[in-house]
Amino acid sequence: MRVSVVGAGLGGLALAQGLRGAGIEADVFERDPGIVARFQGYRLVLDPTGFQAVRDCLPTRWHPLLDEIVMDASAGQLVLDPRLNEIGRLGGGRTGIVVDRQVLRHLLLTGLTVHTDAALTGYEVLAGGGVRARFARREPATADLLVGADGVTSAVRGVLSPRTVPTDTGVRFVIGRTPLTDEFAGLSRAYGSKIAGDGVSLLLGAMRFRTPPKQAAEQLAPDVTLPDIGDYVRWAMILPPNGSLGNLSAQDAVLSRMEGWHPELRALIEQADPDNSTLLSIRVVEPGERWAPGPVTLLGDAIHATSPTGGNGANTALRDADLLRRRLIEAEAGRQDLFDAVGDYEREMFAYGAQAVRSSLEKLPAFAPGVKPS
Ligand SMILES: Cc1cc2nc3c(=O)[nH]c(=O)nc-3n(C[C@H](O)[C@H](O)[C@H](O)COP(=O)(O)OP(=O)(O)OC[C@H]3O[C@@H](n4cnc5c(N)ncnc54)[C@H](O)[C@@H]3O)c2cc1C
Repeated sequence: MRVSVVGAGLGGLALAQGLRGAGIEADVFERDPGIVARFQGYRLVLDPTGFQAVRDCLPTRWHPLLDEIVMDASAGQLVLDPRLNEIGRLGGGRTGIVVDRQVLRHLLLTGLTVHTDAALTGYEVLAGGGVRARFARREPATADLLVGADGVTSAVRGVLSPRTVPTDTGVRFVIGRTPLTDEFAGLSRAYGSKIAGDGVSLLLGAMRFRTPPKQAAEQLAPDVTLPDIGDYVRWAMILPPNGSLGNLSAQDAVLSRMEGWHPELRALIEQADPDNSTLLSIRVVEPGERWAPGPVTLLGDAIHATSPTGGNGANTALRDADLLRRRLIEAEAGRQDLFDAVGDYEREMFAYGAQAVRSSLEKLPAFAPGVKPS
């Protein structure tokens, strides 16, 4: 069996790793001109299911490295005012395993065949079986199965399920990161908590590595090269609905909404890495329309994009990757027909994927003042 995976995000790479480990040929096609072409390094919290899924997709010899580059989430779960006084508590704990997306992505990329500058533009299902994918700047590729792991704007979904389209929640947020130095020791209570300002929320999360990732790879898995990054604080300011930055940079726009805030909070934003500060929109994709199982399927944000405030998008994408991997191994072994295997995956994925989107939307109003509950 040959599988074409479109999109080198966490879900697509985890699937390709899992297939490679089972001896199934998988090529990854990525739209970006290079693997590190843009900022991809925010901190993620994985739940036990998501973490186990990615672990199961990776070769066992890398498990000690994986365990070394993550940390347990210890969330404050408080609501603080802009002077860092406690004014409430966040409902529902958000504990789990913290991982840097860029570091995890590098681990997942190791040993894979990834074709960059390969934006999918369409595909044809072939009469004799299989599917041919077309790309903007490269030759078409033929495979038994095409997996669209190409994120919220998925081009694969555009052909497979054109009526499934993203919904813009209107919520915008600025995300960035700042090296974690002793200067910010006083902020530790705020990590995992929400700072409620006038119409905005600021969320902070610390990323502390047990061992710096590059060093950990050198010691535990010399065939893996991980980025040379140190501890940092990830911050995200959620703006009022349809908020815009005006003419300001992302960083200045955040500071302009922090008049009178605690000086350490302001310093945190002032010292952020400007290249890693960016404005993002919260768009969701709700899986609804079903299609007959065939040689094309979807995974991750491409079919169930959640609001990041749900903290479950990567978890769900990794769960998909592991589930699809298991089904395809059954098909490869001749124990199941390929399309039946894909159909079984889709049935299960649609159910938990829809639930993940709903749950993320329910949590959005707690972080985005002015947004009505869905
Ligand atoms: C700030 C932030 C914080 C988050 N925090 C968490 C968290 O704590 N926990 C959690 O579980 N989730 C979190 N999420 C969500 C999580 O990051 C995503 O749900 C997850 O990364 C989705 O993975 P994916 O592989 O489906 O898609 P993506 O990671 O979006 O990857 C899609 C890939 O496809 C490529 N692509 C797009 N179009 C094409 C094309 N036409 N041809 C070829 N390639 C294409 C893109 O360039 C990209 O590399 C967060 C998201 C954000 C933005």
